[in-house]
Amino acid sequence: MLRQIQDEAGQWREHNFPPADRTAAMQTLGVCEESGELAHAVLKDAQGIRGTHEEHLAEAKDAAGDIVIYLCGVADAMGFDLATAVETAWAQVKDRDWTQHKMTGLKTIVENTGTLHGIEEPQEVVAEVPTGMPTQHELLQAQIDDPAVDSSNIEGDTPMAKAMRALATDDVSDGSTKG
Ligand SMILES: [Mg+2]
Repeated sequence: MLRQIQDEAGQWREHNFPPADRTAAMQTLGVCEESGELAHAVLKDAQGIRGTHEEHLAEAKDAAGDIVIYLCGVADAMGFDLATAVETAWAQVKDRDWTQHKMTGLKTIVENTGTLHGIEEPQEVVAEVPTGMPTQHELLQAQIDDPAVDSSNIEGDTPMAKAMRALATDDVSDGSTKG
């Protein structure tokens, strides 16, 4: 459903706004504006002023929906699929259990370093259990290690990151920075 909304919102945006209004920066400002409206609705509801609970609830729902529509605009401008981004984020977040693991939220493989005078020493964290999905950093590193690695699913790839990879792979267009 989110994919369809991103498609439809993209067509709607193109029909209604010039390219200058459809940049990632402008769409991100929209996310911030709507986040402010959400904050207003939640705060005034908690304070019990400037309207009824029903009115604040309606404002909060409207703002939450608008945030997602603006996020579609950010995703379009930056060239990624919002639904995939949400699924990737959820795959990582759902593994965290903050009730059991208050420092990292993650199950850890621990090595007990023994006891000293009957007092158990802190356990050393050996490794975090992988979540099963590569991080953006790992994808980026894989691309640096091997430029043939497909980088199309590196989200948020920036000109700076591309330039860093180009330097790392000695693939600079003008050759002037080659050592
Ligand atoms: Mg609004």
